[in-house]
Amino acid sequence: MLFDIIRILIGFVLSIIIALTAHRLKSLNRSGAFGAILVGTIIFGLGGITFAVPLLFFFISGSTLSMLQNSSKRRSQKYTIRLGPRTFAQVFANGGPAAVFAIAYAIKGNPIWFVGYLACLCEAAADTWATEIGMLSKSSPVSIVSFKPMPTGQSGAISLMGTVASLAATLFTMASARIAVNFTDSIPHWPISIWFAAAYAGFVGSILDSVLGAVFQGLYRCRNCGKITEDKSHCSQKAARIKGIGLINNDAVNFISSLLSGVLALWIVAT
Ligand SMILES: [Zn+2]
Repeated sequence: MLFDIIRILIGFVLSIIIALTAHRLKSLNRSGAFGAILVGTIIFGLGGITFAVPLLFFFISGSTLSMLQNSSKRRSQKYTIRLGPRTFAQVFANGGPAAVFAIAYAIKGNPIWFVGYLACLCEAAADTWATEIGMLSKSSPVSIVSFKPMPTGQSGAISLMGTVASLAATLFTMASARIAVNFTDSIPHWPISIWFAAAYAGFVGSILDSVLGAVFQGLYRCRNCGKITEDKSHCSQKAARIKGIGLINNDAVNFISSLLSGVLALWIVAT
């Protein structure tokens, strides 16, 4: 077991500082800040610096990209509830699976869990970058399932720009972790193939994320203004479900995809 009460306390304090800063910068709402403190304390506290670096890279890059705005992105706001300050559910969907792997690492004491942890973050970063950069694109994305044109920002819509962004996100997130390993001895200096396995699993997971988003995620039409939305309610009333499963929202899709990326990475390195 790798529990160090001092490190957990340091992780808790650092998480509070980062969450409050993000709250002030409007990247997180109040519940999102609470989620970030929870996820941050688990990951910093149990994993230390090597776990903290890729998490910070994901969080800071995602928050920065979400500040990029143009007319295409503003237009797509009516389809998605992902824009604006992140809520607890959104933070937990992106950081929860990684935290599960950090806990497994702390309990088992085996560094191989770090590969799964990193894949979870690579997936979360890929999805975030694809969304935030892809929505800036002026051209219409297509459905990952039918390849028919789709409205920008809707789950399951993919674009060339978004896909390149998600590939870049997996590689940069992986590289940030690989650099961090140079400054500690908690994680071995594995051959590069192990690191690419994490990035690859994250990228595959982000494709799965789009497929799940296209096929299973609930899509709704507002009974008042007629707008299509991923939110269950619009114009302060319940919207009509036109597609997908009501229980599966974007947060559920993100959580499942990130978790499966971690499992896939472990499966790759174990076989
Ligand atoms: Zn409405």
